Amino acid sequence: MVIIHHEDLMEHDHWPQHPESPFRLRSIRKKLEQEGLWTEVQEPAPLTDEDLLRVHSRDHVDRIRKGGNMPLDPDTMLKDQTFQLATLAAAVATESVQRALKGEMSFALTRPPGHHARANQAGGFCYFNNVAVAVGKAKARTAIVDLDAHHGNGTEEIFYYRDDVLFISLHQMEGYPGTGHLQDVGAEQGLGYNINIPLEIGSGNHSYMKAYEEIVEPILRAFSPDLLIVSLGVDAHYSDTLSNMNLNTPGYLSICQRLMNFMDRRNVAFVLEGGYHLRATAEVVASVVSSFQGKQIFHEYAEERPEPPGAEGKLIQAKKEHGKRWTL
Ligand SMILES: [Zn+2]
Repeated sequence: MVIIHHEDLMEHDHWPQHPESPFRLRSIRKKLEQEGLWTEVQEPAPLTDEDLLRVHSRDHVDRIRKGGNMPLDPDTMLKDQTFQLATLAAAVATESVQRALKGEMSFALTRPPGHHARANQAGGFCYFNNVAVAVGKAKARTAIVDLDAHHGNGTEEIFYYRDDVLFISLHQMEGYPGTGHLQDVGAEQGLGYNINIPLEIGSGNHSYMKAYEEIVEPILRAFSPDLLIVSLGVDAHYSDTLSNMNLNTPGYLSICQRLMNFMDRRNVAFVLEGGYHLRATAEVVASVVSSFQGKQIFHEYAEERPEPPGAEGKLIQAKKEHGKRWTL
């Protein structure tokens, strides 16, 4: 297993106190070092404009390149160095996916995150869609499973009409950015290949695992991907203040392990998305990396929260909707 990373990613920032801060990667790196997991770390190959333009418009790429000092939305700041650093973030994801294509498992330790970046629009702390750029270069039958608490609207939009890229998102219902509805199932050739699973606010380990076992894995099995990318947002953790979900560290780890085992522990790339509680995010990342190596670290954030009333009902609805096109 290889970690893909670049020191310069720590230079990206929006403004003081912004949750998507350099402290996120610092905290993860420190934890990996403490656990003896900061061993096989590689830098990415650089990207070209052509790599970005497979999934983003020329206007969008040029807008980010132009820089300046202005907000692109209330949470996302454009600066002169943004183009260089956002491209580097996508390069880290791309390198990670290239390794996965060769049969390895890899972890893209990257930021700014990518899954809210649309073909022609930045937003939600994201500039380029790291995972989508990586998929564009990979040209493989790909499944993307997005575990971030927020819906991956950018990734959904970019692959909405494609049947060779399956996008599955588990996310908090009615949260940012307001997309991710159950009925948004892809269109034309891509009909049925966009799987939204909006979960009740407050859902935790039990609901996530049930969704995984009853919806995600059966669809993955039917789709039979050659490559699996996990958009690993850690903000569905109970400690995170940017959402209201209740996964704990063992819950995150269980789903990640199931995904790795589904692929026979080959051809899997984990790509960091959100996750704003510094210690919990670091703990989840370190747990996943350590499990690549067959080890288990101590979990400080293992509190079990009760499932909310209504969680079961949301899962039944999701299973019914996706069961129209897949055998569930
Ligand atoms: Zn998020």
